[in-house]
Amino acid sequence: MNVYDSQRMADVLAPLGYGVTDSAETADMIILNTCHIREKASEKLYSELGRYKISQDQRRAQGSDILIAVAGCVAQAEGAEIMRRAPHVDIVLGPQTYHRLPEMVAQAMRARDVKSNGVNSHGQGVLDIEFPTDPKFDFLPDVRVTGPSAFLSVQEGCDKFCTFCVVPYTRGAEYSRNVVDVVTEARHMAEQGVREITLLGQNVNAYRGQRGARSGGSAGLGELIGELANIDGLDLIRYTTSHPADMDAKLIQAHRDVSELAPFLHLPVQSGSNNMLHRMNRRHTRDHYLRIIEELVSARPGLQLSSDFIVGFPGESDADFEATMALVRDVGFIQAFSFMYSPRPGTPGALLEDRVPHDIQSERLTELQKLLSDNQQTFNQSCVGEVMPVLLDRHGRKPGQLAGKSPYMQAVHVMAPATLLGEIVELRISEALPNSLSAVLAAPDAAGRSMQENGRLAV
Ligand code: SAH
Ligand code: SF4
Repeated sequence: MNVYDSQRMADVLAPLGYGVTDSAETADMIILNTCHIREKASEKLYSELGRYKISQDQRRAQGSDILIAVAGCVAQAEGAEIMRRAPHVDIVLGPQTYHRLPEMVAQAMRARDVKSNGVNSHGQGVLDIEFPTDPKFDFLPDVRVTGPSAFLSVQEGCDKFCTFCVVPYTRGAEYSRNVVDVVTEARHMAEQGVREITLLGQNVNAYRGQRGARSGGSAGLGELIGELANIDGLDLIRYTTSHPADMDAKLIQAHRDVSELAPFLHLPVQSGSNNMLHRMNRRHTRDHYLRIIEELVSARPGLQLSSDFIVGFPGESDADFEATMALVRDVGFIQAFSFMYSPRPGTPGALLEDRVPHDIQSERLTELQKLLSDNQQTFNQSCVGEVMPVLLDRHGRKPGQLAGKSPYMQAVHVMAPATLLGEIVELRISEALPNSLSAVLAAPDAAGRSMQENGRLAV
């Protein structure tokens, strides 16, 4: 979501003459787009700001300047504190207000002029962390397509209030864009060569968009995916992140009926223990989660899953943790993200007293990650010899190499002519490396062993 938001900020600033650069030191403006989900992520902010203050001072000494902005969820949660601790920051903006960036830049420039004229040597920065009543999407310019693969935000915010999570506080209430706007944007992307779209939302399957701008009833994510699949040129659709409690029958049906939908789903479960799920306010049990997976796999045989896990949430016993390990063994996730619980200010979890000691959290995380990694390697090995379609969307590290993602989100690289960049190409997997797959171009008649015939394929 932050990658998408950063791209949108660049789109909003392009008419003012700003472009994206790789070098913070020579930039005219630095926007730090922050994440507040775990403590480590937010801690980074102040050290980065310290570094950029040095660049800013140097540039000022040379008679120019760098405008510094802090965006994203740390800005939303700690805006005033950032202004206080780092007065060299010119702009603080939340994730719901970046469509107003041009206005903020103009104000910051004016404040800077005032400062440099000595009228107000403590010129105030610009702070905009409202949750506006007008959704920002109505004010954003067209997305600028940068390759064959694109993100498309369809839903924002969260009303679930899991007890560990800051998202409902930093991103605001659930909001869905209407179907017409989403389909128009996707069509526009496809016309510019986009082949793969990833639909985004904090709870993307809580999507319920009005069909028209004003009328026509509403549609859920399954129906929206059905509409998007009709767009010419759009060959692959993914969505993330979904919540188990919002996996409805129509969405599961879409996995059966829409061949463009990837045979891979990221479905966070957090824990395999009902006791923990209840304390986390996850609104689903272990059995409910397993039932959804059964339904998904029967709708789309061969569908593979990844998930998110939190270990060491307050009160987690050895038995609770063992229930998570057992769930991982049962489901065999092919990828996963796993985290040690990080208490977040303002969330109910942070007030719970039966904290799990750090060394136990750490042991559990190591054990879980070993199992998850074994599962991933087993799946990667099972892919060797298979033929699968891969959208080659970038150059690989070695000369003459192209790279892309498999239908299951594995990184794949292949020696291939640059003319295949942007194409979906049948590749035969030749080797499973620790973090990626090597492949060769499959002969056109090699489909004999394709995953489609093994019942595994999507595209
Ligand atoms: N909406 C998604 C998750 C978004 S946050 C869902 O409901 O599953 C992404 C992941 O960060 C979560 O799935 C969770 O595993 C992790 N996370 C969130 N808050 C955390 C915290 N306080 N400590 C550790 N991990 C956390
Ligand atoms: Fe956070 Fe996801 Fe729970 Fe919402 S559903 S509170 S985003 S973990």
